[in-house]
Amino acid sequence: MLEFDNMSNFSLQLRQKLRKHATMGSAEPVLHQQSRDGTIKFLLALSDQHTVETVILPYEIGDSVCLSTQVGCRMGCAFCASGLPGLIRNLTSGEIALQLLVAKRLLQEENRKLKSMVLMGTGEPLDNFDATVTFLEAVSDQERLGMSLRHVTLSTCGLVPKILELAKTGWPLNLAVSLHASNNELRNRIMPINKKYPLEKLLVACDQYASLTGRRVTYEYILIDGLNDEPRFAKELAGLLKGRLCHVNLIPFNAVSELNFRPSPQEKVKLFKKILTDAGVNVTVRRRLGDDIAAACGQLRNKYRGERNKG
Ligand code: SF4
Repeated sequence: MLEFDNMSNFSLQLRQKLRKHATMGSAEPVLHQQSRDGTIKFLLALSDQHTVETVILPYEIGDSVCLSTQVGCRMGCAFCASGLPGLIRNLTSGEIALQLLVAKRLLQEENRKLKSMVLMGTGEPLDNFDATVTFLEAVSDQERLGMSLRHVTLSTCGLVPKILELAKTGWPLNLAVSLHASNNELRNRIMPINKKYPLEKLLVACDQYASLTGRRVTYEYILIDGLNDEPRFAKELAGLLKGRLCHVNLIPFNAVSELNFRPSPQEKVKLFKKILTDAGVNVTVRRRLGDDIAAACGQLRNKYRGERNKG
């Protein structure tokens, strides 16, 4: 339970003062699922009873936590369960931090250690820019959350002006860009943001990010059967990215019951990867985690809302 009285590293006098003058946002875990592979998913109910989803992902080099930055999302990506309810509200920087603190506590209980963090859960972090930046300042401050931004990745669907604003901080923060298509025609269909910031503008902003921060940009590409996984798209993508300081992360699509898309078959994933590798593009395929629990982003929250609505 998060209460000032439990902060035994503070003096009694300070705790009394805090109780009198400050309030503490609450975040009660209402659902918790653990996969056989060690993935942990939990849903926190915030003080206004909205819920937010957080995931802990086990990797050989240490655990990573995936945080949400908004309740819902207004970006409308066609393949995403998180965006289905639209944007409900932004999270405060404190609510983003609470997810991290709860994750750390859960990991401590299992003698596991947090190694990295991704802002890749529900919401578009750059659409909640001020709270995200305030949170990142707290993360990198040794007196507060004390974590190097080299171990933090922010994922965006491509809000170009905000990418450029973030680049100006010079922080060694990793940027992951959800690309998911190799041309504007296809990207317009599945990611409405592309109509405002098409690929040519997005890639120039990402190049600028890489040159100002010295960090290579990761391009995320979800492989969806029959939609964006044909060899011609891999060749087109290679043409776009060749020579850029970047890395491609291919993500086998996680089936979502509410959406009518299917994951690409293994052979297509392999061929897509081979075409990129042969063209000299640095590429990996993301390992599937949490397959036996509601694995795709936003599913746990949608399931919880559905069950409550039934009752
Ligand atoms: S993929 Fe990200 S930006 Fe797009 S709707 Fe989902 S949460 Fe929002």
